Amino acid sequence: MGSMLSFLLLAILLHLAGGSPPPEPVVCTDGTSNCTVTNSVGSFPDRIVCRARSVTYPRTEQELVGAVAAAASAKRKMKVATRYSHSIPKLMCPGGLDGAIISTERLNRTVRIDAKKGLMTVESGMVLRDLPVVGYQHRIQASGTCINSPEDGLNTSCPWDPRIRGSFSQNTDFSIALSKAPAFVAEMQRLRDLSPDTFCAGIDTRFGVLIRYVKASSAYLGKPEDSVDFDIVSYRSRTDGMPRAHADVVDEIEQIALHKYGGLPHWGKNRNFAFDGAIAKYPKADEFLRVKDRYDPDGLFSSEWSDQVLGINGSPNIVKEGCGVEGLCVCSDDSHCAPEQGYFCRPGKVHGEARVCSTSANP
Ligand SMILES: Cc1cc2nc3c(=O)[nH]c(=O)nc-3n(C[C@H](O)[C@H](O)[C@H](O)COP(=O)(O)OP(=O)(O)OC[C@H]3O[C@@H](n4cnc5c(N)ncnc54)[C@H](O)[C@@H]3O)c2cc1C
Repeated sequence: MGSMLSFLLLAILLHLAGGSPPPEPVVCTDGTSNCTVTNSVGSFPDRIVCRARSVTYPRTEQELVGAVAAAASAKRKMKVATRYSHSIPKLMCPGGLDGAIISTERLNRTVRIDAKKGLMTVESGMVLRDLPVVGYQHRIQASGTCINSPEDGLNTSCPWDPRIRGSFSQNTDFSIALSKAPAFVAEMQRLRDLSPDTFCAGIDTRFGVLIRYVKASSAYLGKPEDSVDFDIVSYRSRTDGMPRAHADVVDEIEQIALHKYGGLPHWGKNRNFAFDGAIAKYPKADEFLRVKDRYDPDGLFSSEWSDQVLGINGSPNIVKEGCGVEGLCVCSDDSHCAPEQGYFCRPGKVHGEARVCSTSANP
């Protein structure tokens, strides 16, 4: 009995401690040509897989410079893809179908360590897990790993690995200036108090609403003020256009945050509509765009997505049937929801200007 229990405990610990490493985000059908690129969950918010002409895997700075020079002289758009490509929006897609991908996967060495200064210089493909520990690390919070584990034929994996039917969710994340955060929280509480059960069913209650503090930054696209960052995970259907029960809760919270309280969307999370007009909220956006133009006048490091979110060309919104359900737009018509399944475009329950896909006839 005792050994059985020990075996079970060991199995549980092994399961928690490891798992097959995630799949490569870049896959090519012809060596390093004719490639597709996706993110770690295998699905961008618009569910499209991006294409690229080729991928290169430089191992040295010289090879990296060569790869950039080759793409630049061919006037080919290029993007970096990392080994794990964790960003949720289409940040790593090069423009069009003919772009180049430069992977940092093999640029993963420590360049130098200056223990006295507490300064470590590493190549850009290094992941936190690979970093040598310098000094005390007993106060770093960590919760195991799944990305660096040996291949075990998918017996175990990261929970979001697209090869298994594991967790599939949408991740809303925005920051609100500290001075406005209490009013925003009070508004969320009003929404909760209208129907606590509905509220708790709308968000993933395993996580709740994560709250982090972010300091103001002088970076052109940094937070202009000290802010509070709110993060909400919620259910996402694997079927395109399939409404989520009580999704209107998160949709309304997002619109209150982004439209009423000037919330800034996390660039690496969120669905398309969150980025609509986001760039106008950055007081130094013009300076950023001037510098960008100076260093990249031909837009070789830009893509359709970056042009849309930076307000250069087009909009991140995709307006079509079901776009409100998918978070690709804010609904303005019932067809943007799923009227055949009883989901209609309705005003928000506490923020009358919000428009959400809801089954409630009387908000
Ligand atoms: C399960 C999960 C949990 C997450 N949790 C958090 C969290 O707690 N907090 C948080 O802030 N975010 C979180 N995120 C979001 C994600 O981690 C961030 O968006 C992060 O920035 C992704 O980093 P990456 O190295 O994977 O970059 P990628 O997603 O691969 O790249 C991001 C962008 O940077 C570019 N890029 C990358 N490297 C370089 C380089 N060397 N040179 C030039 N351009 C480069 C890429 O082309 C792309 O445009 C989570 C994501 C997932 C899937």
